[in-house]
Amino acid sequence: MAKPVIAIVGRPNVGKSTIFNRIVGERISIVEDIPGVTRDRIYSSAEWLNHDFNLIDTGGIDIGDEPFLDQIRMQAEIAIEEADVIIFITNGREGVTSADEEVAKILYKAKKPVVLAVNKVDNPDMREQIYDFYALGFGEPFPISGSHGLGLGDLLDEAAKHFPKRDTKEYGDDIIKFSLIGRPNVGKSSLVNAMLGEDRVIVSNVAGTTRDAIDSEVTVNGEKFVIIDTAGMRKKGKVYESTEKYSVLRALRAIERSDVVLVVIDGEEGIIEQDKKIAGYAHEAGRAVIIVVNKWDVVEKDEKTMKTFEQNIREHFLFLDYAPIVFLSAKTKKRIHTLIPMIKVASENHTRRVETSVLNDVIMDAVAMNPTPTDKGKRLKIYYTTQVAVGPPTFVVFVNDPELLHFSYERFLENRIRDAFGFEGTPIKIFARERK
Ligand code: GDP
Ligand code: GDP
Repeated sequence: MAKPVIAIVGRPNVGKSTIFNRIVGERISIVEDIPGVTRDRIYSSAEWLNHDFNLIDTGGIDIGDEPFLDQIRMQAEIAIEEADVIIFITNGREGVTSADEEVAKILYKAKKPVVLAVNKVDNPDMREQIYDFYALGFGEPFPISGSHGLGLGDLLDEAAKHFPKRDTKEYGDDIIKFSLIGRPNVGKSSLVNAMLGEDRVIVSNVAGTTRDAIDSEVTVNGEKFVIIDTAGMRKKGKVYESTEKYSVLRALRAIERSDVVLVVIDGEEGIIEQDKKIAGYAHEAGRAVIIVVNKWDVVEKDEKTMKTFEQNIREHFLFLDYAPIVFLSAKTKKRIHTLIPMIKVASENHTRRVETSVLNDVIMDAVAMNPTPTDKGKRLKIYYTTQVAVGPPTFVVFVNDPELLHFSYERFLENRIRDAFGFEGTPIKIFARERK
């Protein structure tokens, strides 16, 4: 299900990132442990009261060396393109500035709902100052304080009134959706073309999808698959479309709509930091993942090359140890035909449910083989394990004290579960819960 998207716009220093962080809250992020990864986050899912949506901080999209005004204009354009509702932030302590008026001019042209917020209204005495902001022409301004968390509920309630009604699913449950992500020039669009071939293309602008997310359908042996956001891979018209932050934003949105994510790496150039970031996003979203090493045709090979490359990937992507790796070439089409079967397997594993009794046998055997850890004289006791969700498979282990289930033992249990049931291609999650 595609969640509604809110974008935050406004000139620098009005408090956009403060508000973004306040709304998104403290989210635990595995990728954040990798230095420099998502600290500069500009896109996140969020819940506020009973609203569930995605939030974009356009202020975090820096557009190269463009002049100041062009930067904020482009950020406003991105908001218009990517969002269902725009929150336009201004600063109550400074009043309306000419840069605010520039942003307003761009937003007038859009046929997207805009909610105006006046930030830094930290106490009620300052509410008088919001009246000037009616002049911007977006109706009633909402006084807020990002740093104190005031007024955000009313602001988001107003934004939520404009959410599109999306009660239909984008695609049926039986259709596997996948996307290709990776930095520019690794060969994503070439791969899509190679997979689609000539006769299998149906480019659909599926009803209910907003914006310019154009997906493609592939039918293989009578089974339908959807490639998410093929348009996003091809477009490179506007200046901002080549910036890293914007492509990350597109990738995150594609990941969200996918069951399986193909992380594409350039075999000729090898792995760079940006590849790790991108792979981290797929992992963190809990999607099934396949690592695709493209351009294998131009790699000089001997009998060890593939093995070495594989080890290299495993070292760099420790968190993706479940993801199968395929070496192929979009150009020569070598091993292209293996992708769809791999996607199918990964997707099946991602939604696989295991039988509770068998699961508990596996856990009991594991405990017999490697006794549970003790901490300060207290031993972990495992009473019962159950699978509570799919997509990704999620397990709850009922124990005497959740603190005692250390990472290494959890890892051991995960490996036993994987050995027993084979969850290749999908992350699995394990939670400990106390049973008294
Ligand atoms: P951005 O450039 O629009 O993303 O703005 P930032 O979120 O980086 O905020 C700019 C400055 O304004 C920072 O020093 C913030 O601490 C401060 N700020 C943000 N929100 C508020 C607020 O509600 N009240 C006050 N007094 N300061 C704020
Ligand atoms: P994207 O930006 O990730 O969509 O990358 P493109 O599909 O536009 O490809 C970037 C460049 O790599 C183009 O010049 C392609 O022709 C080239 N390319 C893509 N796949 C392969 C491949 O398998 N082998 C070789 N030798 N070149 C490739």
